[in-house]
Amino acid sequence: MDINNLLRENIRCLQPYSSARNEFSGEAMIFLDANENPFNPPYNRYPDPMQREVKNKISRLKNISSDRIFLGNGSDEPIDLLIRAFCEPGVENIVSIHPTYGMYQVAAAINNVNVVHVSLTENFELDAQKVLNAVDEKTKLIFLCSPNNPTGNCFNHEDILKVVNHFRGIVVLDEAYIDFAPGKSLLAASGELRNLVILQTFSKAWGMAGIRLGMAFAAPEIISVLNKIKYPYNLNILTQTKALELIENAKQVEIWTQLIIAERKKMEKMLTEFPFVVRIFPSDANFILVKMHDAKGIYDYLKDQGIIVRDRSRVHLCEDSLRITVGSPDENEQLTEALKNLV
Ligand SMILES: *Cc1c(COP(=O)(O)O)cnc(C)c1O
Repeated sequence: MDINNLLRENIRCLQPYSSARNEFSGEAMIFLDANENPFNPPYNRYPDPMQREVKNKISRLKNISSDRIFLGNGSDEPIDLLIRAFCEPGVENIVSIHPTYGMYQVAAAINNVNVVHVSLTENFELDAQKVLNAVDEKTKLIFLCSPNNPTGNCFNHEDILKVVNHFRGIVVLDEAYIDFAPGKSLLAASGELRNLVILQTFSKAWGMAGIRLGMAFAAPEIISVLNKIKYPYNLNILTQTKALELIENAKQVEIWTQLIIAERKKMEKMLTEFPFVVRIFPSDANFILVKMHDAKGIYDYLKDQGIIVRDRSRVHLCEDSLRITVGSPDENEQLTEALKNLV
């Protein structure tokens, strides 16, 4: 597969902006090349456009080479860039599972790119053949999400790989919740898969949603395309500095993650006790999708108690379901008490 043949022609031919820090990025005594303020207020210098220090750290953390890493302003950035790089507006399309994370659809719509939805099975499993059957000659990208949002489950590697291996375009596998699903990342196995992009984020298990830092892992040819079309300084200095500091927290993150998984199991058990709970969907993430009698009524009741969950009732296959994020032990206790008062 030649990435160049998949790209939109204008992107293939694009002469990217070359910033001052692209043209010279070494050590020097005096920088008079970027029209910055010379009096050294705290943030007078432009950040590293390629975020080399942060990538080096992530490279060691994930055991993957830096030229296979793209960093963005949240995962939203690589989602948008991939659509813009590969899909001709009004002409080409993407295939996405249904239900899943809403941003693929929104990013596609902003770019005037049509989304072909392929329903998961009743048990939220991936039907690889059905996804492949939905592909036509205008399909450039397939979006998968595992663990999937809002359903919470992981797909089998076998099924994901079937899609990757039989599609001549690019498969984007969103692993935003992978830290809660030990051993289920495809990252370690992705080295040979030239048409697979894996998305991960610091927004969930790592507790850094506020600094906006998302990762895309892929073959260097795909990473180069994203680098070519991103804003030159897409990650500001505050984000890069904080990330370098907080990535050192890996041990704390592991402790939080274990605690959240333990709390999730406790909540799953607790929820089975309530007569209004119809079904608790198995989760590999930090949230639980729960089918209830009168989900909307329970949502409103909880809201009145000051507890906000996500009403997914209008989402395909999630009728009458609430998506509940696993909180701290104290927050989960308060949720339990509130629900007890409903019985
Ligand atoms: C939360 C979430 C993300 C994270 O997005 P960021 O922009 O990195 O905060 C990505 N994908 C899915 C499926 C999510 O639920």
